[in-house]
Amino acid sequence: MTDCKMEFQCFVAFVIFAALASSLCYAYDPSPLQDICVAIKDPSSAVMVNGKFCKDSKLATADDFFFTGLNIPRNPSNSVGSQVTPVFADQLPGLNTLGVALARIDFAPYGLNPPHTHPRATEILTVLEGSLYVGFVTSDPDYRLVSKVLNKGDVFVFPIGLIHFQQNVGHTSAVAISGFGSQSPGLIVIGNTVFGSKPPISDDALAKAFQVDKKVVDEIQAKFAMPK
Ligand code: MN
Repeated sequence: MTDCKMEFQCFVAFVIFAALASSLCYAYDPSPLQDICVAIKDPSSAVMVNGKFCKDSKLATADDFFFTGLNIPRNPSNSVGSQVTPVFADQLPGLNTLGVALARIDFAPYGLNPPHTHPRATEILTVLEGSLYVGFVTSDPDYRLVSKVLNKGDVFVFPIGLIHFQQNVGHTSAVAISGFGSQSPGLIVIGNTVFGSKPPISDDALAKAFQVDKKVVDEIQAKFAMPK
């Protein structure tokens, strides 16, 4: 084999590798190709960047990069006893294309942020007040629970895509702040998705899936069908 032919094969291999690598990257937020891209709803006086409408950067102001009120406790009195306050690109338009986001989570005593997953982001959480029992479960075939009780100042990471939860294990309210590796992490709450879809998944299918009687499925579906 000549050197020339080997070089050509290396080049072809490199092109295939590069193509694969770039297609894998589409699972994540695109890297910004400009300083700022403030998300805008009205496309007049807007430019397209990374497939989204952006405010003309000359018109961007400090308020486009600003959100206030995350210090204010939210009311967690609902069926699970927790309330998430997102600071995603929808709430903070200047986050658009930048690949990060934040949330505040308020917990009633013994309140739960029920099992859920973020399809586009790893989450890093810190406890500001109270004690939380937190965990995530690894995927098939291990399904290993990785869990811990966190106290004020502790930090825990929930890897991208994995199902996780947080529960207040104290008799006082708790507060946590989470950072996300996406401007729009996405949220799939397992209970709502499986038992509260519209229209509902057939109770026969869910009875088989969870190895319980259809009546048990109907009972759970009725709870998730109620408006929140
Ligand atoms: Mn989460």
